[in-house]
Amino acid sequence: MTLLDSSLWSDKIFTGSWTAGSADSIDILNPADGTVLGRSGMASADDMRDAARTAAAAQKDWARTKPAERAAVLRRAGQIFEDHQAELIDWVQRETGAIPAKAGLEIHVAANECFDAAALPHHAMGEVLTSDEDHWSFARRLPVGVVGVISPFNFPLILSIRSVVPALALGNAVVLKPDPRTPVSGGVMIARALEEAGLPAGVFQMLPGGAEAGAVLTEAPEISVVSFTGSTAAGRKVGEAAGRNLKRVHLELGGNNATVVLPGADVAKAASAGAFGSFLHQGQVCMTTGRHLVHESLADEYVSALKEKAEHLPVGDPTHENTALGPIIDEKQRDNIDRIVREAKDAGANIVAGGTYENLFYAPTVITDLTEDNPAWSEEIFGPVAPVRTFATVEEAAEIVNSSEYGLSVGILGDVGEAMKLADLVRSGKVHINEQTVSDESNAPFGGFGDSGNGSRFGGYSANIEAFTEIQWLTMRSEIAPYPF
Ligand code: NAD
Repeated sequence: MTLLDSSLWSDKIFTGSWTAGSADSIDILNPADGTVLGRSGMASADDMRDAARTAAAAQKDWARTKPAERAAVLRRAGQIFEDHQAELIDWVQRETGAIPAKAGLEIHVAANECFDAAALPHHAMGEVLTSDEDHWSFARRLPVGVVGVISPFNFPLILSIRSVVPALALGNAVVLKPDPRTPVSGGVMIARALEEAGLPAGVFQMLPGGAEAGAVLTEAPEISVVSFTGSTAAGRKVGEAAGRNLKRVHLELGGNNATVVLPGADVAKAASAGAFGSFLHQGQVCMTTGRHLVHESLADEYVSALKEKAEHLPVGDPTHENTALGPIIDEKQRDNIDRIVREAKDAGANIVAGGTYENLFYAPTVITDLTEDNPAWSEEIFGPVAPVRTFATVEEAAEIVNSSEYGLSVGILGDVGEAMKLADLVRSGKVHINEQTVSDESNAPFGGFGDSGNGSRFGGYSANIEAFTEIQWLTMRSEIAPYPF
């Protein structure tokens, strides 16, 4: 039997064992050709409430297990991702429309997330405080209890597991709600790896469902922290509900990220970076380069190099080794991309390459002659579209970069000294010099400013410990303290 043998999970949700969900099961579709890959169980709001309750009960024992035991489970889970790579890559490719490199990256990062998380149980340290009282004083880290995780369709495995495993490592239980379009990559894989790794039943629960099911995670009294990755619009709702119910919430939302090409930059290399930044996974990445800001001295050369790339990158079946761009996840997303491209043209922009689609395959698109308020420049497109504008000075580039309400990632290509001057002026959760905007490592603190999130960070010891623990102040005297009455 394989790790993802469908007889185990088909039509089911994972509540410590595989059981039927109360909502109607749905087909899992391959966006490349519309074929049915399997059937996902779906959770109702009541299933989510039950999951929060049983997770809270299971968490108590899990928090008491020795750090070494928790670490061992996570190490085994990481090994399972590595051992079953081929099978898992195949699923990510077919379910999310990913080319081999993107699918491979998801599995590689998932394994690393587990290995990094395995180091956390022994590092959830506190502080020994000084005190003016005659007592010992400590600030110690405790698990928060149950963490609710809500994740999107685009990089479903990474964006689920980056919250799930650090939270578990630190003694929490987790209820995960993956996007119903990608329940296997975003949920079943993690449930199976943790199940096989020997995680006690109930500590992790995985329930595919829609927005209504997700909303339960912001209300259920047993849930203390909500980790949400998705659109800014849904993030606002999640943040409002979590605030009302006094839950801590980590919001990782949209972006409209700029790659800036400085004067003197190598145009061929810059265009390759720019194409990767805009077209990787069909631009369905929160860190996608949505704005190319090119020094006026290089603009013509850069646009023709980018056009050349766009016109020659192979689009099609993502399982073929040479394919660069696969399908958009569904018609709704494709139509939104196309709406923005059409509106851009109507507002006077020039579609230099692409701007067309066949089924769910959208051609890599390059757009110029954009004003600041053109929707292709100002909105997050979430598709394979590279809008280009020019700038004259570093100060002007900074002003344009900062004019977006988002602030997730900035790439700066060219002279390192000039790039650092610009890095000092931009407001962004991540800045990458001589790299484009798409980049994620399991040990690096990831998150955005402004409408890209609420400043929370995942990745690395300090960010993960901050995200998934509470601090308790503990004092201790050798005898009962004397009081005046
Ligand atoms: P979405 O917000 O519609 O859905 C994301 C998840 O939230 C899904 O699981 C969905 O079912 C759930 N959801 C939706 N409404 C909800 C609600 N009211 N309460 C609880 N859960 C709810 O996002 P999408 O359109 O599927 O994904 C694309 C968006 O995600 C883009 O805007 C992209 O930039 C963003 N994204 C951000 C990051 C990041 O790390 N910052 C990473 C990937 C994607």
